[in-house]
Amino acid sequence: MIFTRRDFMFGALGVSLVGCASDHATSSPTATTTDPVPADTSAPGGGPLPAKSFVTRWAADPWTLGSYSFLAVGASAGDRDLLATPVSDTLILAGEHTFAAAPALTHGALLSGRAAAQHLLDIGDAQRVVVIGAGFAGLGAARLLVDAGIATVVLEARDRIGGRAWTDSSMGFPVDLGASWIQGVDGNPIAQLADTNGVATQVTTDDGAILFDQQLQPVPADEVVQIEALAEEVLSAAEEVAADGTSLLDAIEAGGAMPTDPRTRILVRDVVRRIIEHEFAASLDELDATGWDEGEALLGDDVIFPEGFVQIAESLAVGLDIRLDSAVDRIETSKGIIVHLTDSGLTETADAVIVTVPLGILKSGMIEFDPPLPSEYLTAIDALGMGVLDKIILEFPKVFWPDVDLIGFTRDDGYFLEWVNLARHIGRPVLMGFTAADPARTLESFSDADIVDDAVRMLHAAFLTPEG
Ligand SMILES: Cc1cc2nc3c(=O)[nH]c(=O)nc-3n(C[C@H](O)[C@H](O)[C@H](O)COP(=O)(O)OP(=O)(O)OC[C@H]3O[C@@H](n4cnc5c(N)ncnc54)[C@H](O)[C@@H]3O)c2cc1C
Repeated sequence: MIFTRRDFMFGALGVSLVGCASDHATSSPTATTTDPVPADTSAPGGGPLPAKSFVTRWAADPWTLGSYSFLAVGASAGDRDLLATPVSDTLILAGEHTFAAAPALTHGALLSGRAAAQHLLDIGDAQRVVVIGAGFAGLGAARLLVDAGIATVVLEARDRIGGRAWTDSSMGFPVDLGASWIQGVDGNPIAQLADTNGVATQVTTDDGAILFDQQLQPVPADEVVQIEALAEEVLSAAEEVAADGTSLLDAIEAGGAMPTDPRTRILVRDVVRRIIEHEFAASLDELDATGWDEGEALLGDDVIFPEGFVQIAESLAVGLDIRLDSAVDRIETSKGIIVHLTDSGLTETADAVIVTVPLGILKSGMIEFDPPLPSEYLTAIDALGMGVLDKIILEFPKVFWPDVDLIGFTRDDGYFLEWVNLARHIGRPVLMGFTAADPARTLESFSDADIVDDAVRMLHAAFLTPEG
């Protein structure tokens, strides 16, 4: 089975560990402890504690209400195509959720915005356009329009550009809290922008990747190969029996290829979680059995931006009229375009509007369309799912983990199943962990301190000897 999107794989790789597991401290965070994490000190068990940390909460983010879209049970790529079809010659939706060839990705968002702008340019009637949202879709649309000489205003609710490509520097160094990777640089327009603008990138690989079992013991390399082969068998069997209107979980169960041996079963379960739930930000029971592996294949290396993804957004934004802190709550389209701003009560008028707000915002009904969007658009918005992928960033006083890009864990609760070693790319002792789908929604209900504490205990237990 070939996956259109790719995740790291651990198979066929040399496992080289610096330490061994000292205990099984993987308890779930409790909501009771809210003490801040001590800075740059030593834990009772002897492990270094993070001096700085950041926990994302994309499900709760008011300007996206989720991380990115997915094909929920019953949805299809046709729903995305429908949303990408201009509602009229003056109202067009864009954004990652509308781009069936590369949904949930930055380059899909960029291309969707460009396509919306090109449509207006082809019609040739619009002299003034309002673009709502300054993520890659909005910036891509505005860039094309302005370069073609069309007066364009970008209205952005946040106090920054980039949307879900969010490079934060509050920890004292740039770190991407939303999108990190150009997924497949070959033919990728984001990679082209990086090249044109001299933005540095670094390839990440799964060479030497390390996988831990539930007891925080490293899984031997030959067993990892076997587990990943079994996971592919499970998914292939599911593909064969997948029925319309059912979930991927239903198909996996019907496929009957899940191993019965308890250890193997759990390891295979979490390989599948990493390949699918982390990539699509949705649980197996949410994803459509036949359509989940959507989009075109991503070719070429995966690269990250050591100085942040925002550099690409900034390169697109040069010279654009972008109004930050300008949330929109109403769009009238019957007599020209009138866009209402939430806080100021002001309006913007235009000949056409491109709406690039995330699917989560469209689902919430936060923006009133007058007249309402046609019912088929509302049906498609309802049918698509909005998933969750959250990150935890930890800066430790020193590196105490192996010099590999990727570290995987196996946990019933699904928290922190994947980590990327940013130390190899930014020259600081920083790890970036991921939690997706239902576990991410649950984790968001805990305090930052509890989330950090749980993650740090697991890392200590995996990488430090009892003596530290
Ligand atoms: C944790 C995480 C990891 C990811 N990893 C990757 C990755 O590695 N590679 C990759 O390619 N993609 C990744 N993605 C997906 C990628 O970030 C998105 O697909 C892409 O950035 C979406 O761009 P967009 O323009 O469609 O939407 P956004 O970037 O969300 O832009 C929409 C803008 O609209 C604004 N807005 C919302 N409501 C209003 C309103 N009422 N009025 C005015 N403005 C409003 C928002 O503030 C936002 O700035 C990741 C996303 C997340 C969350």
